[in-house]
Amino acid sequence: EQAETTARKRVLLAKPRGYCAGVDRAVITVEKALDTYGAPVYVRKEIVHNKHVVQTLQDRGVIFVDETDEVPEGALVVFSAHGVSPAVHEEAERRNLRTIDATCPLVTKVHQEARRFARDDYDILLIGHEGHEEVEGTAGEAPDHVQLVDRPEDVAKVEVRDPSKVIWLSQTTLSVDETMERVDQLKERFPELRDPPSDDICYATQNRQVAVKAMAAECELVLVVGSQNSSNSKRLVEVALQSGSDAAHLIDFAHEIDESWLEGVTTVGVTSGASVPDVLVLGVLDYLAERGWGEVEEVTTANEKITFALPRELRQAMSDVR
Ligand code: SF4
Repeated sequence: EQAETTARKRVLLAKPRGYCAGVDRAVITVEKALDTYGAPVYVRKEIVHNKHVVQTLQDRGVIFVDETDEVPEGALVVFSAHGVSPAVHEEAERRNLRTIDATCPLVTKVHQEARRFARDDYDILLIGHEGHEEVEGTAGEAPDHVQLVDRPEDVAKVEVRDPSKVIWLSQTTLSVDETMERVDQLKERFPELRDPPSDDICYATQNRQVAVKAMAAECELVLVVGSQNSSNSKRLVEVALQSGSDAAHLIDFAHEIDESWLEGVTTVGVTSGASVPDVLVLGVLDYLAERGWGEVEEVTTANEKITFALPRELRQAMSDVR
């Protein structure tokens, strides 16, 4: 009897999980652009890093492009939530594109910091993942002042002009713990390194990591719903493993779950990245319920209330249409 109770299969469901305010705003921006202007609407890069979202919008008439030079002269293009460098804005202007900027306001905040400290002639050490769109956009604000610090070995390569005028900034979707490790390493080299005026790792990234930490130790398996190119989703897998789960996997859809992962598992943790609609999490919960994990307990570590207004240029266009 006792053994049976302790071995009861259950799911711990992290809260907060899934959509953040910046993703919600970016997806609604594209939907409203479709309603207002009709298809096709061009979007530079994936509007958010989620396969399902991108496919759904494609079906509705969105054309995703890598660069603005693929957009026909004079057409409408939406910039993704990850932000773009000033060079991209200039290129769009040269080609007479109509633009709607869906950059998350919390990414824009980091751009502003980069501009401000470049203006004050600081060396800016940008902690982030090489090749990620957000990092390219932020670095593009001040290419002469920014150096990217990704891996631990990058710390030794940094060169600054004046060690008393150095600041670190970061990508919004990093692991909080790893970033602080990197900052400590940098401070060993540059004791006067300045901290950003406010956290660059955004509230949504931080909250999702805290929620996973709270449940991971009780889980033999954590399933993170999210796409391979989603930085914050990948970090959730790492945090789950570091916080005590025996295994953790990143999946886009329930059908990607390998039955063998569930062998010998009692407690499964489920969460999702900031770019993931909850319908995909429900798919995972259905999959688990069909296999005996029907009991779901939500583990709540924060209640998020933040929302962002739609981009001004879109609000303007919507009221013109009305
Ligand atoms: Fe904005 Fe954070 Fe969401 Fe990125 S993860 S879109 S920075 S709220």
